[in-house]
Amino acid sequence: MAAAESNLPAHIRARGDLEAGDRAVSYPPAPAPLAVGAYDNHAHLEFADGDNPMDYREHLDMAGSVGVLGVIQVGTDVETSRWSAQLAHTEPRVLAAVAIHPNEAPVLHQAGELDAALGVIDELAGLPRVVAVGETGLDFFRTPPELHDAQKDAFRAHIEIAKKHGIALQIHDRDAHDAVVGVLLEVGAPERTVFHCFSGDAALAEVLAEHGWYASFAGTVSFKNSDGLRDALRAMPRSQILIETDTPFLTPIPYRGRPNSPYMIPYTLRSMAETLEMDENLLAAQLTDNTTDVYGRFDDHPPTQLGSVLRGR
Ligand SMILES: [Zn+2]
Repeated sequence: MAAAESNLPAHIRARGDLEAGDRAVSYPPAPAPLAVGAYDNHAHLEFADGDNPMDYREHLDMAGSVGVLGVIQVGTDVETSRWSAQLAHTEPRVLAAVAIHPNEAPVLHQAGELDAALGVIDELAGLPRVVAVGETGLDFFRTPPELHDAQKDAFRAHIEIAKKHGIALQIHDRDAHDAVVGVLLEVGAPERTVFHCFSGDAALAEVLAEHGWYASFAGTVSFKNSDGLRDALRAMPRSQILIETDTPFLTPIPYRGRPNSPYMIPYTLRSMAETLEMDENLLAAQLTDNTTDVYGRFDDHPPTQLGSVLRGR
């Protein structure tokens, strides 16, 4: 793979968490279209996944054909953040989030490269169609304890960038619920703060509810063993829930393990509607309102001249 990967554009990422031989790698069939449209609040369209990877246009066209109106494209390092901002600049169905991922930040810190990377994120965060800083946060699952302080420092720096530009914060929280909440309360959360791929229980949902923070639910909410997550969904105020795919990961039931794409949103939405005992059209309308509250309307952010941070790449 290494030789083939070196020929890919710098922003393209190969999915490394699962070996292709371990799972079915074709894209699942499309669901029945939504009657009321919704947005995918978190996706990584730069990942090449499956035996026949789709490019961003195919993802967005398929999504549109089932009523998924647009995508928040999320960066995880300097290259993918820059690409996300560039894509949002030219593609009306995409808005961007930019950040150094919590598993990447301590690595850059050790290499003495974190400050320069955060400088680029700060610059990108000032662009008109960059609507969030993310994904940032804490990951105590993948990062060893001796690097947790560096990870927390990077999280604090990202929070400051979001507040400086008045945009939303998208948090990655893996096995670190208390620490994430602690940092938010310590430094003050941005006005619009989202727990991406919410993975807490009803107790954490109540903390979010109390502080006006948002829980974004991914395909995990449809998994058989996710009763705690469904309790959390029921515990959230409906005005504070969002929906996402986290493409290419976390494909919803009944296609768990296959490659994910924004067109899979209707499966997750219908699973959420069932949990909430709510009409799917009403839920879709609510989720779309919530997306707009957090990020603005997709046509509220007209592209302007390409900033120097994007030119020449
Ligand atoms: Zn993500």
